[in-house]
Amino acid sequence: MSTLVTGGTVVTATETRQTDILIEDGRVVAIGGSPGRLADWDIIDAAGCYVMPGAVDVHTHLNLQVGEERVSDGFYHGSVAAVHGGTTSIVEHPGFGPAGCELSHQIDLYREQARDEMVIDYGFHGVVQHVDDHVLCAIKDLTKNGTPSLKVYMTYAARLGDYDIIQVLKASHAAGGLTAFHAENHAIIGELTQSISDYGDVSNPASHPESRPDYSEAEAINRLIALSQAAGNAALYIVHLSTASGLELIRKAKQKGLPIYAETCPQYLTLTDSCYQKTNDRGLQYIMAPPLRKQQDCDALWEGLADGTIDVVATDHCSFSFAQKLKRGKTNVFCSPGGVPGVETRVPLLFSEGVLKNRIDLNRFVQLVATNPARIMGLSPQKGSIEVGADADLLILDPAEEKIVSVEVLHQHVDYTPYVGMVVKGWPQTVLLRGNILVRDGEFLGSKGSGQYIRRKLRIQE
Ligand SMILES: [Zn+2]
Repeated sequence: MSTLVTGGTVVTATETRQTDILIEDGRVVAIGGSPGRLADWDIIDAAGCYVMPGAVDVHTHLNLQVGEERVSDGFYHGSVAAVHGGTTSIVEHPGFGPAGCELSHQIDLYREQARDEMVIDYGFHGVVQHVDDHVLCAIKDLTKNGTPSLKVYMTYAARLGDYDIIQVLKASHAAGGLTAFHAENHAIIGELTQSISDYGDVSNPASHPESRPDYSEAEAINRLIALSQAAGNAALYIVHLSTASGLELIRKAKQKGLPIYAETCPQYLTLTDSCYQKTNDRGLQYIMAPPLRKQQDCDALWEGLADGTIDVVATDHCSFSFAQKLKRGKTNVFCSPGGVPGVETRVPLLFSEGVLKNRIDLNRFVQLVATNPARIMGLSPQKGSIEVGADADLLILDPAEEKIVSVEVLHQHVDYTPYVGMVVKGWPQTVLLRGNILVRDGEFLGSKGSGQYIRRKLRIQE
């Protein structure tokens, strides 16, 4: 069974050209001058569209449960939403497991829960909740067995202290893996939250960003850069970078040649802390950690995308509903579940706000949403690029299609979108996973459970 994608402009991380792509058995087998057409080929007409690698989102929480609250989409609805937005692979960050559990506990559990649900391809990051000799040994096994990336939190109950962070960095580095960090200073957040609780207004969503100031993120990033050096220059990956001050530290570290990668998310590029002022409790919708920042932070992050300081745009998709946020957080915003949905809007938003507004070019766009995340997190060469032998995961994007974002136009299984009312131009028209058409003209053609687990391997392991 062969499919020819023809008439479109193929965009990769390095080039843009009018050409055709031939697909056989789920893989790209030829790019360029068509060797004639056979009668039984399926033809996909991509005229007027960009043909790009299927996008890769390496920061999702499709399946999160915190206490009694569970996100509203889950693996099936979350992955359907993702593919409508042009994303064909994700790497999910599992939530914390029971205290003291094995490092593999959450990955085993999530794999089981994802298997019959996911419609796109997927992997999982490990989550380190405590450190002892057993965990450090397990890091090696996990890395070798297809999960070469770990997540460490510097805040929340399962945070790690500096000494433990060094041990994790050393173990992961020695095994050829990468450690991702939620970088915020726990003590600063604790102090400010307490102070607002004692003297401020805990029912005001604007208290939330006050409790997590920009210097809390910058301090944590600065410390990580030092800890990484103490761990023998172990690679760092900073998730959801939100501040100009944090960005500047990363820029300087990169200039010194230190191995540090940075990820930001569309919410930190396109929304500001003015969202916490929205009426009718809608400010609660924007409770997330780190919080939304100032316009100058957004501007700095766009510069960081353009100049290469930031490597990846992911989502931190986390669809606790507005109803859940109201129920828990209306009288005390510090009790609200955090996070915003975004797995479906990442690609169109970055295209519309980035490419069409001349902040980044087309190739940089592909690097940020597909090629870099795939390479850094070990999904390449299968994923994230269009090349002979790679999986035929393709995003055919119509740059002229315009939509006003609302819950109704999206497939995310949640009662709000943080981008409501935004005019976004450039939406996926057709999306292929391993040569199969999963979305065509807004219609989902895939099937539950057809996504495959990806055993990942970092290039530095080779
Ligand atoms: Zn996250």
